[in-house]
Amino acid sequence: MNGTPRHKTLNRLSAGFRRFRRHWYCEEHNIYEDLLEGQSPHALVIACSDSRVDPALILDCRPGDLFVIRNVANLVPPYSPDSGHHGVSAALEYAVRHLRVDTIIVMGHSHCGGIAHLMTDAGKDKNEFLSIWMRVAQDARAQADARCPDASAEQRERACEQWAIRLSLRNLRSFPWIRTAEIRGELGIHGWYFDLASGTLLQFDEGSELFIPLGDSYANEASETETAE
Ligand SMILES: [Zn+2]
Repeated sequence: MNGTPRHKTLNRLSAGFRRFRRHWYCEEHNIYEDLLEGQSPHALVIACSDSRVDPALILDCRPGDLFVIRNVANLVPPYSPDSGHHGVSAALEYAVRHLRVDTIIVMGHSHCGGIAHLMTDAGKDKNEFLSIWMRVAQDARAQADARCPDASAEQRERACEQWAIRLSLRNLRSFPWIRTAEIRGELGIHGWYFDLASGTLLQFDEGSELFIPLGDSYANEASETETAE
């Protein structure tokens, strides 16, 4: 048993938990003592389930900082109040109406397997759920196909990943309580794109409709002090 790949996996994860516990329960002044009182994250991040794009790691966050929804291709389905099992919508409702986050970020990424599946229909016959889920982003594929007809398959996938973020932003605004909070200035909605190849983070600029480097656009306030600590 010992030494099998599965055993090694469990070993590595339990060692990781010991390090986590030592750090966050001992060295960091029992941060969980405060968090026991309740969570009050300011940001909701909607990210892909992909193992390479953990938002807490990429954004260097602490326990309690982020409320996170992860699914294949970081998709937000449109508002659809019926008796279906809407996991994403339930989490949105909890974050926005109960926790009252002030920021929502849809964080897409390059080399997304979900988007590749959508663009190629690979293995769709043996999938019970994946192809149906990816239909949420059907319009993003249509945009990428129509606007980049001569591009390579890879370039069209990159385009589709970014159109899918824009689609999710639009779908977020189809939830009446999200739209209302945004109009009241209580909630900011952003689309970010993590490029695995270059290690850069882009933001969707609603004015120019372009993805531009995140840079220091938000770095004029508290973030400088946080870095200095
Ligand atoms: Zn992905």
